[in-house]
Amino acid sequence: AFCDRPTSLWVMIADACARNPDGEALIAGDIRLSWRQAVEQAARIAAGFRKLGLQRGDRVAILLGNRIEFPLLLLAAAHEGLVTVLLSTRQQKPEIAYVLTDCGARILIHEAALAERLPDARDVPDVIHHIAIDDDRALSRFAVLADNAPAPAPVEVGEEDTAMILYTSGTTGKPKGAMLAHCNIVHSSMVFVSCLQLTETDRSIAAVPLGHVTGVVANITTMIRCGGALIIMPEFRAADYLKLAARERVTYTVMVPAMYNLCLLQPDFDNYDLSSWRIGGFGGAPMPVATIEKLKATIPGLKLMNCYGATETTSPSTIMPGELTASHIDSVGLPCPGARIMAMGTDGREQPPGEIGELWIQSASVIKGYWNNLQATAESFTGGFWHSGDLGSVDAEGFVRVFDRQKDMINRGGLKIYSAEVESVLAGHPAVVESAIIAKACPVLGERVHAVVVTRAPVADADLRAWCAERLSDYKVPETMAVTSEPLPRNANGKVLKRQLRERLGT
Ligand code: ATP
Repeated sequence: AFCDRPTSLWVMIADACARNPDGEALIAGDIRLSWRQAVEQAARIAAGFRKLGLQRGDRVAILLGNRIEFPLLLLAAAHEGLVTVLLSTRQQKPEIAYVLTDCGARILIHEAALAERLPDARDVPDVIHHIAIDDDRALSRFAVLADNAPAPAPVEVGEEDTAMILYTSGTTGKPKGAMLAHCNIVHSSMVFVSCLQLTETDRSIAAVPLGHVTGVVANITTMIRCGGALIIMPEFRAADYLKLAARERVTYTVMVPAMYNLCLLQPDFDNYDLSSWRIGGFGGAPMPVATIEKLKATIPGLKLMNCYGATETTSPSTIMPGELTASHIDSVGLPCPGARIMAMGTDGREQPPGEIGELWIQSASVIKGYWNNLQATAESFTGGFWHSGDLGSVDAEGFVRVFDRQKDMINRGGLKIYSAEVESVLAGHPAVVESAIIAKACPVLGERVHAVVVTRAPVADADLRAWCAERLSDYKVPETMAVTSEPLPRNANGKVLKRQLRERLGT
């Protein structure tokens, strides 16, 4: 029977293994591991961590793409009570250096191919071990660190202990480390399993990046909880996804709306047998109604379920029951079990049903705060409620709607770009006086990054883009620019009138 209250990630996988030891667990390319094998591999890697002298609470930074080592490392770290810090393979050297320094990582496990992006050792003195992963054999080389000694017993971990730190940017431009506790992750995984009625017969594809909260929770830990199979895609390409989904008889996937849009754009979409696919979760960004309707018409058996959440809520805070999607197409769903969501007015009071305010979210999945950042924690959390920065409403039946956001952020196909971060990089360029980053509408990705840049001397767009590309993840680099010598429009308080800039752009 299910362990009804797993207290940590390791307890959760040990439970999956006890229930379904020989069931398929992790699949990537030619590698197919059962739950028993996944646990064995993770325990051997854990022994490797122990041999290196890493101790409970130490931070392990992971800079890996979607590969089988990713979940195994998360589990091995959980076995040892270590805290994993997830970096994105799209980050550039200054971004990586910032995170490694801020979290004080003791070890960095990275894609060998990304070695040139790593900061100089003297800039990150806390990092005393590096492990480069270059191929499938790297796994066994890593485990050999333990000299094939018998697997050690798991370290005792408290449910409130931090399991992972995921960095999110913010209004100040400095990323903040969201601390996801074991209990947050376990709770969210249980919510997905119960709301979506997942069992060990389910098969999911991890098509989103595993280093983001959706990758970790909706994919890895949810499949651990239900004991089904997780098929890991190295990189999302719509044609490959459709092929894999048909071949592996996938039943459940959570993706961002842009990925569904890209699938629908495939000319041979109708030729794939997707009849096994019963649950299509989507989140991270609003889904165009036309996409929902097209998907319903093409895959009649597919229940589309809107999942609204964030890193700070450890993935979902609302889920739309699949049978209500069509009748509530403008809503992101109902609060997940145990979650309370309110629309907070500017007067500091909860808005009445249907009225718009900032969405505040409280649940067992909401994190306690940011790593080493009491100020940001105090600004973003009140009495266990996380202030989402999204503007929305909650109606009398509990349905949540998201209309807009008050945070200055661009949502490029689910990837978030905080304007302040890009503006501060542009401000460092010698020719730049000031800049404003705004969203430009895009039918596939939802929004793209546009920059209005005020310069003191003539400068080519390409120079400014190259400047950004050295310092920022590729998706944060402005794709279009208006370079001008006119000052930015501001209100009486000196605030840049971004709405006016967006109107000029016609979006
Ligand atoms: P990931 O990091 O895996 O992409 P995420 O997008 O859920 O996960 P964040 O990057 O923290 O997490 O972004 C959270 C923000 O994304 C929310 O505050 C909201 O603005 C937007 N968002 C998330 N889900 C939805 C949704 N279903 N509909 C509309 N907007 C959403």
